[in-house]
Amino acid sequence: MGIIVQKFGGTSVGSTERIRHVAQRVIEEKERGNDVVVVVSAMGKTTDQLVSLAKEISTYPNKRELDMLLSTGEQVTIALLTMALHELGYKAVSYTGWQAGIQTEAVHGNARITHITTEPILNALNEGNIVVVAGFQGITSEGAITTLGRGGSDTTAVALAASLSAERCDIYTDVTGVYTSDPRYVKAARQLKAISYDEMLEMANLGAGVLHPRAVEFAKNYRVPLTVRSSMEHVDGTYIEEVNTMESNLIVRGVAFEKEITRITVHGLTNQITSLSSIFTTLANHHINVDIIIQVQTDENTTNLSFSVKDEDVRETLAVLNEHQSSLGFEKMEAESGLAKVSIVGSGMISNPGVAAKMFDVLAQNGIQIKMVSTSEIKVSVVVDQKEMIRAAEILHEAFGLDKVEETIAAL
Ligand code: ASP
Ligand code: MG
Repeated sequence: MGIIVQKFGGTSVGSTERIRHVAQRVIEEKERGNDVVVVVSAMGKTTDQLVSLAKEISTYPNKRELDMLLSTGEQVTIALLTMALHELGYKAVSYTGWQAGIQTEAVHGNARITHITTEPILNALNEGNIVVVAGFQGITSEGAITTLGRGGSDTTAVALAASLSAERCDIYTDVTGVYTSDPRYVKAARQLKAISYDEMLEMANLGAGVLHPRAVEFAKNYRVPLTVRSSMEHVDGTYIEEVNTMESNLIVRGVAFEKEITRITVHGLTNQITSLSSIFTTLANHHINVDIIIQVQTDENTTNLSFSVKDEDVRETLAVLNEHQSSLGFEKMEAESGLAKVSIVGSGMISNPGVAAKMFDVLAQNGIQIKMVSTSEIKVSVVVDQKEMIRAAEILHEAFGLDKVEETIAAL
């Protein structure tokens, strides 16, 4: 008998009626003879509402207290789902993150899981329980409650699956699987049967909201078989797996996009061998995530440095730079907001030259200006005006033949 970890997102547990429905899906898995661990998110838009409440009190709420507040959302769901399972005649017990032994680093708002003590869950399973665990939360070694970043319940689920050596981790959501692009915005988007860990990791990191990036990272590192599937309909989902032979004739497998990006430019940075490391170490010490970096030497002694951050981090970034201006040694800085990142992802790029060229060409032909570029082996990202984001995504989706994915699957 194996362990299956199931995860149900906010929409799937958005009402008591839906929670009852989720209980049925859990029981189906239990009745197949598996031990079941269920991870749930907060109901519906609860987390957003809690954030709003905090903002009514304080513009920049203390991060420890914000975690204290946000972690309550998931606690509501675990209790209700467990009650629903009891009503249907099943043994079940709920655990908060800390009761489930989920240890994290001491970072509020975006903590990483460092260790999971599996005894509590294993004992409860051995006693015949379905175990219902609150997603998105953990505890530091000092005993402070932390959260894992928005969307972090996926990561709880995959991390539990890894530490419990689960057979599979099924992410149940309000869409039927992973799409070539976000179907809410790109109408031609098609569902993929399978996608590799690396491609999924890029897609998730690049703003495809369907999975939390760290969840994919865990799945890849610990080889957890992962599926994304619908909590409402009984239809095939998308497999995220190591070797992905299907659809291998697709050079690009997805188009991802992310809004609310700001380009920060630091002018007149002294040209010293340690200049870059000083700036980025200082930002990293403040847990500021920097994305695309472009360095241009202006003359013998100075360089200009541009990098992108999320809008939500702009205030802190500027404050940190300001505070350290003299020691970092630059003249002035400026920030340009209202930008977005659009990316194409696909393992096929490794062996097919000209993918970036085609991307730039298609965008140029459509009059879309590129402000920054970054590439990896399997992705190309461009920063554009936020107003052009969806149009750019649609153009690229079509240019790389993603609207024809279904035919590709059928042909194999
Ligand atoms: N409830 C949290 C959020 O809304 C975590 C999650 O749903 O994964 O971000
Ligand atoms: Mg989610």
